[in-house]
Amino acid sequence: MDDDMDNHPAGHDHAVVLGAGLAGLLAARVLAKRFARVTVLERDELADAGPAFRPGVPQSRHVHVLWSRGLELMEELLPGVTRELQSGGASLLESPRDLLWLSPADWFGPVPGTRVLVGSRELIDWTVRREVLRDERIRIRPGCPATGLVAGPDGRSVTGVELREGEPLAAGFVVDATGRTSKARAWLAALGYPAPKTTRYDSHLGYSSRYFEIPSDPARRWQAMYVQGRPDSPRGGVLVPLDGGRWLATLIGNGEDAPPTKDEEFLGFARSLRSPALYDAIRDAKPLSSPIGFRSTANEWRHYERLERWPAGFVVLGDAACRFNPVYGHGMTVAALAADALAAEIRTLSARDVAGAARRIQRRTVAAAAVAWQIATSEDLRYPGTEGPPPDRATRILQGYMSRVMVGANSDPEISGRFFGVLSLTASPNTLLSPGTMIRVLSKWRLPTAPVTADYPSHHRSQL
Ligand SMILES: Cc1cc2nc3c(=O)[nH]c(=O)nc-3n(C[C@H](O)[C@H](O)[C@H](O)COP(=O)(O)OP(=O)(O)OC[C@H]3O[C@@H](n4cnc5c(N)ncnc54)[C@H](O)[C@@H]3O)c2cc1C
Repeated sequence: MDDDMDNHPAGHDHAVVLGAGLAGLLAARVLAKRFARVTVLERDELADAGPAFRPGVPQSRHVHVLWSRGLELMEELLPGVTRELQSGGASLLESPRDLLWLSPADWFGPVPGTRVLVGSRELIDWTVRREVLRDERIRIRPGCPATGLVAGPDGRSVTGVELREGEPLAAGFVVDATGRTSKARAWLAALGYPAPKTTRYDSHLGYSSRYFEIPSDPARRWQAMYVQGRPDSPRGGVLVPLDGGRWLATLIGNGEDAPPTKDEEFLGFARSLRSPALYDAIRDAKPLSSPIGFRSTANEWRHYERLERWPAGFVVLGDAACRFNPVYGHGMTVAALAADALAAEIRTLSARDVAGAARRIQRRTVAAAAVAWQIATSEDLRYPGTEGPPPDRATRILQGYMSRVMVGANSDPEISGRFFGVLSLTASPNTLLSPGTMIRVLSKWRLPTAPVTADYPSHHRSQL
């Protein structure tokens, strides 16, 4: 497709998506059902040959888990994508069965839970991109950053985007999915729109991640590991298998307990977690990289949906609108939920009508973030150093209840099934508040203050 066509003033049958991350790619797939052409503008150069690191997604060097709800929605949008991800080296695990997982309460036993896909973020992006590009109506322009929005003469509708050299690209609908560095606020201000209010909670969680070669160990009975921190012992770690026989170990901690990024300090931090399990796994494994840190982990919701004035033809999706502390693993699933909400909103509209529905679409798509936001912010508020609006009474009651749910979920099949339904964003949190579940949670379970962490749960004990 040549650029003359892109610049055609009658862009109403043309949608433009900014950013080829997960949120942008899935939105493009949905929009191609209504628009004759969808152009995805991506600032980075993109490698076609295979999964590769790129600077626009620096978080890809840290553990990414995709909960079942996100994977199911991606499979609906891109049939066969799960198989493609697995053949690229991603693992589809049963959580917690296949994980050696120490919760804030205790080790998870072999209770029912949910599926979770673990794989490198580079692989997930590359596979989804390849599948999205099977649709001939979609094309990606790599190395092509958007620098602003173009508005109609009355300023009430977005009619395109500005490219680096200032030339415009006409569009009937523009989606900003440029992630956490989104400039939507400034772009809208340039068109005369007020800044949205922002709600922010920052637990100052730090990440440090390092690749290892997976050592052969016939006695190993788990496939991934998660040693969670808790407020009185905030250091944690995750270990997942990746393509190419690699492990990715991500160490986490808040404030002063943030993990180190020096080679010689990585193992020492791993040894200081609540259980030595992760240290034991990696201490003799061959490192394939030096540790890499990541510190920008605040929850931040830019409330575009609350603005009184909103231009037709424009929405902000994914991390650009609402991002979460990544430790709960929800960003990609929320991107898929937002794409699903977008699909529901435009199902009965013509391309021309989608622009007029932008304000409603903004509200409905960001609503997909609500449960993940509630989980992340109420959990983060357990940590004393978390900055943000203080928890209200309802949140404090919920926190106490969820502590007990966690204890129950470790070994009670009914509670664990419901807990993982909520954590995977499959089921409403209300399912944990049904009378039967509440009685089970409140009457049976008491919080251990110092769980015995040295002994692994029986289903993961070494068989040798
Ligand atoms: C350390 C860390 C760990 C995480 N772990 C998990 C996890 O375990 N599970 C999970 O589900 N989520 C996780 N997330 C969240 C997840 O990475 C994001 O929520 C998810 O990628 C959706 O992001 P997005 O598509 O909105 O933005 P991104 O993936 O950040 O993509 C934005 C894209 O926009 C491009 N771009 C930026 N500016 C421009 C511009 N001006 N013009 C054109 N293109 C532009 C960028 O190059 C990039 O390609 C984690 C995040 C972090 C930070």
